[in-house]
Amino acid sequence: MFLKRGNNTFGTVAFRLTLWYAVLLAALSSAAFVLVYVRLTSSLSHRMDEALVSNVKKFEALYNKQGLEAISAEFQREAASSGVKRVFFRMFSPSQEVLAASDMSKWKGIGYPPAALESLLNDKELSQTISIPGHEHKVRVIYKKTTDGNIIEVGHTLKDNEELMERYRETFGWGLLAILVLGSIVGWSLANRAMSGVKRVMRTAVRIGRGDLTHRVPVGQEGREIHNLALAFNNMLERIQSLVMELKEVTDNIAHDLRSPLTRIRGVAETTLTGQQKLDTYQEMTATIIEECDRLVGMINTMLDIAESQTGVANFATARVDVAEVVKDAYELFQPVAEDKGVTLKLDTQTEPLFILVDVARLQRALANLLDNAINYTDAGGKVTVSVERTQTYVKILVADSGVGIDEKDLPHIFERFYRADRSRSAPGNGLGLSLAQAIVQAHKGQITVSSSPGKGSTFTIILPAASTAN
Ligand code: ADP
Repeated sequence: MFLKRGNNTFGTVAFRLTLWYAVLLAALSSAAFVLVYVRLTSSLSHRMDEALVSNVKKFEALYNKQGLEAISAEFQREAASSGVKRVFFRMFSPSQEVLAASDMSKWKGIGYPPAALESLLNDKELSQTISIPGHEHKVRVIYKKTTDGNIIEVGHTLKDNEELMERYRETFGWGLLAILVLGSIVGWSLANRAMSGVKRVMRTAVRIGRGDLTHRVPVGQEGREIHNLALAFNNMLERIQSLVMELKEVTDNIAHDLRSPLTRIRGVAETTLTGQQKLDTYQEMTATIIEECDRLVGMINTMLDIAESQTGVANFATARVDVAEVVKDAYELFQPVAEDKGVTLKLDTQTEPLFILVDVARLQRALANLLDNAINYTDAGGKVTVSVERTQTYVKILVADSGVGIDEKDLPHIFERFYRADRSRSAPGNGLGLSLAQAIVQAHKGQITVSSSPGKGSTFTIILPAASTAN
């Protein structure tokens, strides 16, 4: 997997976020513009129509009262005062003959009212927006029929409205540009700020990729997600670092523990080459080599067993058994060993059966390791008790001895692979027994704990979930 490098801004998340932000801003501004534009246009045309209707009604009243001459004069006056370029007024007979009109010199090209006006009712006005050939702006016209069948026409240029809307469009165009530029700058800086945490995590990841596991991501103030990302990343690093250390320690220990028997084997083999020896000596040497090889194979097998148990119970042959039976078997197995050493081994189980779901052979191994240690680290005359207790949902197996005990400084380490307390170095062992016991118990979803007082003895406790009666 390769990191995407380079200065290509377009490929960054910050750029994409900014782009989305700008597009959204533009879309929202345009929607707002369209809304205001539509409302404004309709309100302007409504006001224009109201003005035209009031005009045409005023002319009609005048015509009804004072006749053609009065309306003709009023047309002239009104057009002159409002501007002959902006308005015009006409009156037609039913045969479309112009009876009166304001100054039409600025309205060349305007035609006659549409024939559809024939059907115009007396009390109704009809309004239209028309284009006049040669005129830049459209015109709003309104028609009204008088009681004697003539038609009054009032026209008003839409120049003012169109110019207003034009200015509005222009203002919006510049506004949109400003919004886009400002929005992009703000969006870009916000996106970059948000992404700075991710960049920090990435920089740390790159450093670690180069082999420096001690680096941690500095936790910043960008927000909860980035804060949590940095914390999760640091936790992961913590875990990886401790795993790597553990792995290194185990490898060092394996190398160390392999070297001594191999050196001994080599030494014995070398002696056989130094000259003729008696047959007895050869046999003794070979026996030593076999013993050392057995130790090595035993150690390697135990390590494989630990690894297998750590992968879980998938390949365990679990069965429902009475815990007292398992403990009794182990007790019987170690009774002769204890006797040989002069240690009293006691069994204390309850009469009522306590069932657990376990791989019996593996639990026997875990128990054997605890009993072996207890007898090993207890002097002659001492006592080892193996007992069983039950809590509500758990079954406890306790192995208590009156032996040498474990120093406080050793207690946190005794379950680590190859760990042996200094004073135990003279006793046989490889420091793997408790690791294996722990791996087996944990694979059964149980726990193994220890309490000890140096000089007085130790108690190891295996806690396992009890099998339900239905199992
Ligand atoms: P080993 O017994 O082969 O050294 P273990 O993993 O079984 O390895 O035990 C690790 C260490 O824990 C021992 O070396 C010993 O120092 C200590 N230990 C274990 N069990 C006892 C015990 N019952 N009493 C005193 N020390 C113990």
